[in-house]
Amino acid sequence: MNSVLNPEAPEFYPHLTSVTEGGYTTFNKSIKSSNKFPSGTALQLFKTITDFNFVTCQLRESVVVQSNDIIITELPAIKLKLNDNHYNAEKISDANECMLDRININIDTICEENEPSENVIGGTNVASWNNTPTITKLEMGSATFIGAKNIPRPQFTFKDPVDNSESLWVPKISDKPNNIKPLALNILYNEEGEAVGYEHPYKIELELYHPPSSFIDPDPEPPSFPPPLEKTKLTYIDTEAQVDALVEHLNNVKELAVDVEHHSYRTYQGITCLIQISTIEGDFIIDALAVRQHIHKLNLSFTDPKKVKVFHGAEMDVLWLQRDFGVYIVGLFDTHQAAKALKISGLSLKSLLMRYCKVDADKRYQLADWRIRPLPDELIMYARMDTHYLLYIWRKMKEELLEASAGQPRLLLSVFEQSRQICGVTYNKEVVHENSHLRLYVRSKKSFNTRQMAALKLLYKWRDSQARVLDESTTYLMPNHMLLALAETLPREMQGVNACCSPMPPFVKQNMMIIHRMLLSCRELPLEPQLFHMPQSIRNMVTVSPHPLISYEVHDFAHYPEFSEDQPINLDQASEYIENCNELNPDIEAFKPTSDSETNSTVVSKLNVDAKLFIPPYDRYRKYRSLAQLEEIKEYKEKEAKITAIGKGNELIKSEVLVKLQEAKALVEAEERSDADKAPEDGAEAEPDEGGTQKTAQRKRKISSDKRERKDSVAEPAKGGQTREQNKPKNNTNQQNKMKNKPEPKPAVARFNYKNVNYRKLFNENEKALKQPKMKFKKHK
Ligand code: AMP
Ligand code: MN
Ligand code: ZN
Repeated sequence: MNSVLNPEAPEFYPHLTSVTEGGYTTFNKSIKSSNKFPSGTALQLFKTITDFNFVTCQLRESVVVQSNDIIITELPAIKLKLNDNHYNAEKISDANECMLDRININIDTICEENEPSENVIGGTNVASWNNTPTITKLEMGSATFIGAKNIPRPQFTFKDPVDNSESLWVPKISDKPNNIKPLALNILYNEEGEAVGYEHPYKIELELYHPPSSFIDPDPEPPSFPPPLEKTKLTYIDTEAQVDALVEHLNNVKELAVDVEHHSYRTYQGITCLIQISTIEGDFIIDALAVRQHIHKLNLSFTDPKKVKVFHGAEMDVLWLQRDFGVYIVGLFDTHQAAKALKISGLSLKSLLMRYCKVDADKRYQLADWRIRPLPDELIMYARMDTHYLLYIWRKMKEELLEASAGQPRLLLSVFEQSRQICGVTYNKEVVHENSHLRLYVRSKKSFNTRQMAALKLLYKWRDSQARVLDESTTYLMPNHMLLALAETLPREMQGVNACCSPMPPFVKQNMMIIHRMLLSCRELPLEPQLFHMPQSIRNMVTVSPHPLISYEVHDFAHYPEFSEDQPINLDQASEYIENCNELNPDIEAFKPTSDSETNSTVVSKLNVDAKLFIPPYDRYRKYRSLAQLEEIKEYKEKEAKITAIGKGNELIKSEVLVKLQEAKALVEAEERSDADKAPEDGAEAEPDEGGTQKTAQRKRKISSDKRERKDSVAEPAKGGQTREQNKPKNNTNQQNKMKNKPEPKPAVARFNYKNVNYRKLFNENEKALKQPKMKFKKHK
């Protein structure tokens, strides 16, 4: 079936089925292993251990080589870099995006097969209104994508019309239960006097919130374990009367677990499809599409400070509830925040379910299309799992939080405080401004000329305005990678549009002419001699990573607990880690940008400035190389100092460090000498004003000699190894013995080059600061 759809799609090649099967599991394992990898200060400490550096370099190389083999099918022109994790992570994300887009488009194509002439974008599919959706499943390893054909657009049944205009989003709340201050919708203004949003309706109530003592005091008895799903009452709610009954029931409970399922593909702002609630009475599934206009009644218990609302990772849920129903939360306990406070190594709900309930939750349906009605049983089961055990987990975590601060409520209160901050965020519509497209540009790492840049801007703006009108996601209309490809190639012929957009999304198909005309108009613009040069201020602005709440992208996992970077560091793992390195799954670095030490930041920023100013590649390479060498010397000096300070004198490391220091020094000296030798010969270095030809010749020679050097070290590992051996002091036997006990190292081991450690560090150190401190009453944009 799939190959009929799009025989070009690599994931549909029959021989690749075996590869994709189990692939998902492997990735999951890899992410888990990489999360165990030390970071920050711990990493710096680890790096003083020679074995550690040795093993990580080996692993890195094999990860990059293997990943290259994988992504080459998606992005044939891209080659991952050994020392640039950030670049690699982006490219891998791009490749994933290409695949997911294709999956989405193919699922849509299946849906359209029988009614190809209908307007499928933004319109009602009237013919299919009364039909039951036919569910389409696409199994990819352990992940299942569930889509369906004939899903009516729920937007058309909404009593509140969808407003995607650029006007301010107005809070939906019209009744404010549990208020200390009566409802007032106050507009907030920025310094220029422009209205930027509305004040949080429960601002005062949140400010005055303190968890009731019953949630802070130790529980008199341990919580009882919830009965299994089959033995628990399930209430499906899709009428107003049922909502009222639920509201009544919630009146009588002290705590409720809540989760939300959401759809973002066939809508501009997103649609909340399901709200799951669990209480001691059982599980409730609210069909949020069916009773959308009644859900505001939940505010009665959701804003009651005397009731605890337990969520796991509530950041997005809080925004979705505001946006679609005007529902707010006062009195939140977020188990994700609790897991962080407890420094639990797995922060996802799946991990907590395993840890506290010994339940292996099936997360296969995370990407299901939650608009499907009637909701298939397997999706109902899946949705229930998200809240069914949550109240028990909250009680267990409370116990542990009290224990962790010796019976004092300090830690528990801090979790309530973090949770309160999450409740204070307000929803706002996406604002597209003059420079919005630059974020995409910077991320793509492409270098556009002025025509290409104009096309990118034009297409970006146009796609956004169309998405607002049609109430579709920009990704559905035209995925980012297609937009970039169109702007980059600026195809002269219509056929070229085809080539950039395969498989072609219906929106592109319908607007081929318009798109082509836009591109042609950009082709006619004057071509400035140099590439588009982005002003520093704008680059800073677009490269600053947004608050996790500000953008919600399919591949921006920052807001998903399992992908958050704030994994605790466990130094106890050091020896264990090194022992087990060979057995670890290959993914350590490439999928998770490390954020290590604060040192070298000046060097990094210098490098960045260079990178931003289109310096010819060879010049850049030279600068970078000498900086890297300086860094290398610095690092070894630091290590030496550290060792001396410790005074214990681990002779092995010390001598290693000294050897490395000497090697690095010698390298710099040799480099200087060879430069000096060459200068009179070529005359280019000595006389910078000299014409370009000789300079070029020198560069060519230099590059090829460097290349040769690199090739040598790859092709003749023994040679490199020998030199090192000769320099090594004799007391190295300890390490050698250790190596002997391990499996025979591959030849690749010998080409390990200490420089790599520094080069990678240099490139990556500026990629930290992903975390931002949370602020009160931030505005979601
Ligand atoms: P959860 O809290 O895990 O039930 O997720 C809530 C909603 O977030 C889901 O219904 C999805 O719309 C969205 N979501 C969760 N995980 C992902 C993911 N990995 N990629 C994209 N969307 C996700
Ligand atoms: Mn959730
Ligand atoms: Zn969920």
